[in-house]
Amino acid sequence: MPDFAALRDAMVDRQLAGRGIRSAPLLAAMREVPRELFVPEGVRDFAYEDGPLPIEAGQTISQPYIVALMIEAAGVRPGGHVLEIGAGSGYAAAVLSRVADSVIAIERHGALADLAAARMARLGYGNVRIVAGDGSAGWPDAAPYDAILAAASGRHVPDVLKRQLKVGGALVMPLGAPGEVQSLFRISREGEDDWAQHDLGPVRFVPLIGAEGWKE
Ligand code: SAH
Repeated sequence: MPDFAALRDAMVDRQLAGRGIRSAPLLAAMREVPRELFVPEGVRDFAYEDGPLPIEAGQTISQPYIVALMIEAAGVRPGGHVLEIGAGSGYAAAVLSRVADSVIAIERHGALADLAAARMARLGYGNVRIVAGDGSAGWPDAAPYDAILAAASGRHVPDVLKRQLKVGGALVMPLGAPGEVQSLFRISREGEDDWAQHDLGPVRFVPLIGAEGWKE
């Protein structure tokens, strides 16, 4: 069996710190969370390669660098209350839980939500709640959030989502049609009715499917 702890350290040094990820609590979290336990057994040996990997239900676990970039861009920090849309394997939610105080992560595939919840229980990450359902309109019950991350590419930034941010908070979300090159956006809430938008560059994600996303 590969020495996963050594591979994880090398991943953080080369793929994250080496590319400009600076947040100390985030780098520590990514040194801690065992990505090999979030992928199907057949691809476990590739857990620390520099790319996305296939997971169950035809979905993907994002490249480690993209997970870190999104968490840093959203300004996630200790004390924060965070929403993730598209929990998938649960990996990004697990990393978020080691940085922030509380995390809600929504996943539309029930089988993936169950797997992710089982992983949190096994690892003792008690501050993450995995919810099964359509998160394209966010999760108003636990709003407002310091940060919102969408791990699937939307049609537009739903107004309801922007309003689930605290003033001073930010959401990070890819926008663009399935199969096309998409853009990753950071939208920060500057005031009660004031948002600022920045383009963080081209990315490729699976589609956000739901009421405020694409049709199946
Ligand atoms: N953050 C995940 C990446 C998963 S890929 C990880 O670390 O593994 C994106 C996920 O978004 C997929 O699992 C897909 O099923 C899910 N998804 C797509 N549309 C969704 C929606 N409307 N609500 C919740 N999850 C959604």
